[in-house]
Formats: sequence, C-alpha cells, structure tokens
Amino acid sequence: MSTIMAIAAHPGDGFFTMGATVAQHIHNGGRGVFLNLSLGEKGHPTLSPEAYGALQQQASEKAAKILGAEAAFLTYRDAEIPWNEEANLAVCDQIRRFKPLIVLTHWSGSWHKDHQNCHAIVRDAIFYAGLPAIARSLPAHSVEHLYFADNWEDAANYQPDTYLDTSAVYDNWLKACDAFPMWRGETGFRYNDYYRSLAVMRGCLSGCQYAVALMSSAEERVRHVKAL
Ligand SMILES: [Zn+2]
Repeated sequence: MSTIMAIAAHPGDGFFTMGATVAQHIHNGGRGVFLNLSLGEKGHPTLSPEAYGALQQQASEKAAKILGAEAAFLTYRDAEIPWNEEANLAVCDQIRRFKPLIVLTHWSGSWHKDHQNCHAIVRDAIFYAGLPAIARSLPAHSVEHLYFADNWEDAANYQPDTYLDTSAVYDNWLKACDAFPMWRGETGFRYNDYYRSLAVMRGCLSGCQYAVALMSSAEERVRHVKAL
C-alpha cells in the first residue's frame, strides 16, 4: 500500500489544495498523511491565535478522519516558518517516519513567505531523507514523486502537467473541507467557491466531472526514451 504525503504551510492549504488528491489516493487503496508545518493560527480576523490555532488543529484532525487519512503537525508559528537546517531535518524525519511514495507540497511561485519556505524545506527534506549518510533516528527513505498543488496563493508561473480525476471523492473531500471555518468564508476569501469551481474547471479540461491539476517537479518532466 503506497503512501501519499501532503506537506503544507497551513492546514487550509493541505486540505483545500491537496486534499482531493490525497482522498483519491486513499480511494485507490493507498494511505494518506497530511503534515502541517504550522496551524495557520494568525489567519482569523477576530479570534486570537491561541483560540484559532486550537480550532484549526481540531478541524485538521476531523477532516483527516473524514478522508481516512492521518494528520501530523510540526509546531512552527504561522507567518514565521523558517527555512533552515532545523526545519529541513524536522521534515526529513517526518518523511522517514511515514515513508511516502509521493509527496505533494506548495509551488514556489507564491507571494506568501510560509509557502515559499515550505516549498524549499520540502525539497531539501526529500533530499536529506533519501541520503543514508544523513544519520537520524530512522533509516533513509527515497520519495519517488513530487508534485506541486494548484493554490490561488502560489499561482506565479504555475504550469500544471498532470490532471487527476477526483470525481469519486469530490463529495467526501467537500465534507472534509467543511470542517474549517475559513472554508466557509470566515477569514475573507471564498475558499469554498474557489476550490469547488476549480475542480469543475479542471474536470472540464480533463474530460471528467471533477479533477485536480498538479505540476511535476522539473526533474520528473524529463523523459528518457528509445522511441518517441
Ligand atoms: Zn497558506
């Protein structure tokens, strides 16, 4: 049973932009993990970071359960996720712990520094996780595929090359997203309308009801063939 691991700066990114892909992998017989680098606790206009962080954690656990996935958390502060060796190694340890075949994360073309840093951390962490000479408590693990999610905040130069039919899990994915106050528009942006419509639009391009678009890492776009 292969594992897919979604690594996001904030829980909303994990579930709204990567959740349907994780749900589809589980639907196909795989295992799914959501790793949140922070709780996104500074994102509510009226609630305190403490109160909102607790809500976000509960929502993540509930949403993961609805999808039959696992939720894991690192404890970086929202808006202050650092790109440094400590973070690279912390995510490396989580990759070695869950042993994913596939990792999903943010695309680098983001205006949000947490998203940019998450992208960079995940790249380094995958490299470290696969390197036996990086001695940690768990043995090395090589990730085979890395994809970047279709996120309205990470849109600069985003060029999807892979479309995944998520029609079978669409309703359940919506139910999972609905665990989050921000999905319902409490923080300003209409996440619900945007990501539901995006699934419809990607489905139109893909010849199915609902789909997500993914962007492969540059290395995986290169093909080595003996015939075209
Ligand atoms: Zn975010």
